[in-house]
Amino acid sequence: MNAPQTVSVLGATGSIGVNTLDVLARHPARFSVYALSAARNVDKLFEQCRAFRPRYAVMVDEAAARALRGRVEEAGLATEVLAGPRALVEVASHPEVDTVVAAIVGAAGLPSALAAAHAGKRILLANKETLVVAGSIFMEAVHRGGATLLPVDSEHNAIFQALPRDFAGDLAAVGVRSLWLTASGGPFRTAAKETMARATPEQACAHPNWVMGRKISVDSATMMNKGLEVIEAHWLFNARADQIRVLVHPQSVVHSLVEYRDGSVLAQLGTPDMRTPIAYALGFPERIAAGVDGLDLFRQGLSFEAPDLERFPCLRLAYRALESGGAAAAVLNAANEEAVDAFLARRCGFGDIAATIETVLDRVAQLGAASLEELLDADRAARAAAREFLDRLAR
Ligand code: NAD
Ligand code: MG
Repeated sequence: MNAPQTVSVLGATGSIGVNTLDVLARHPARFSVYALSAARNVDKLFEQCRAFRPRYAVMVDEAAARALRGRVEEAGLATEVLAGPRALVEVASHPEVDTVVAAIVGAAGLPSALAAAHAGKRILLANKETLVVAGSIFMEAVHRGGATLLPVDSEHNAIFQALPRDFAGDLAAVGVRSLWLTASGGPFRTAAKETMARATPEQACAHPNWVMGRKISVDSATMMNKGLEVIEAHWLFNARADQIRVLVHPQSVVHSLVEYRDGSVLAQLGTPDMRTPIAYALGFPERIAAGVDGLDLFRQGLSFEAPDLERFPCLRLAYRALESGGAAAAVLNAANEEAVDAFLARRCGFGDIAATIETVLDRVAQLGAASLEELLDADRAARAAAREFLDRLAR
């Protein structure tokens, strides 16, 4: 028997983190947990430390780290508690780590994912914002560092499964015409524009098919999630914007499709349960049990429709940012994060999210962006512009 793979789960207390630990717990001989991290949820990270006995637990918040340290010592666990964003980079790149699950939400997940890439890790990427903010830099780090990049986002995991195993970044070489990302359409798929304008955070977070963190739930409601995924697909599969198509599929059973030159369309289907793509990436190239039931196709209808870019302007804005290149996608992402925060805190309306992003893209996107520093500058400038716009709305 081989030594178990050592895994750092960054964002362990979130929706992807919890699903990852569920799969890991099914394969104790195959995986051992090296590190777990959270922003500030002491109770949940403590429970996870008790169950998985990691070598390190990282809390971004210092006070939360002190609280967790007390709990861990009291319980007699050998886990060492580290604090601050720097520690995330350490547990993502430590020589003893084989696999890093990048499941932090937002651009905050970029430094640790990038460190894992430089260190040549096997990276299970859930944090799509990493590719949206710094796609070219991250992909270059993956190649230079000799890392293995495995997409966890269900659509990209589906495409990864439907592409030939020897795909090496040239879609034309393997006969691909286009990639089709499926979208559920979110909770407002059939809602009138006026209803959407009055939507509350509770309504926006009530996703019909998936239980997810609050930020990605709002992104699904605006369809910015699909926009971010278009950009994610561009970097992961080296696809041009015109090769990436979006298809609304309310049942979330077909997770995405690859259309080949001969007219063949290959899809990956399954129950909407993130443990399937997580298990695929954890076990790759082997298939391991995920605890997910098979699909009942006798009872499962499948339907498809075109996205409505008028009610979901965020999707259009994401294509625009992708086509602009440079720092535009980083600006789009930063403005979106600020607007979603404001919406969740009831400081702006649902429709203001797209308005904020559009305004900020008009104002800030012109910045050049070759280096990480320039992208981070653009991120900061976009956040400042977004806050200013949102403050004015609130007055
Ligand atoms: P979540 O909000 O449920 O969890 C986020 C995790 O990140 C938590 O552990 C939290 O403690 C940690 N975190 C939050 N802010 C942080 C910060 N500033 N620094 C360090 N850690 C921080 O989010 P989620 O739904 O699990 O999503 C995580 C990522 O995976 C996102 O990028 C999301 O787009 C992507 N994703 C999620 C799903 C899903 O089904 N939930 C599907 C596909 C992709
Ligand atoms: Mg997805």
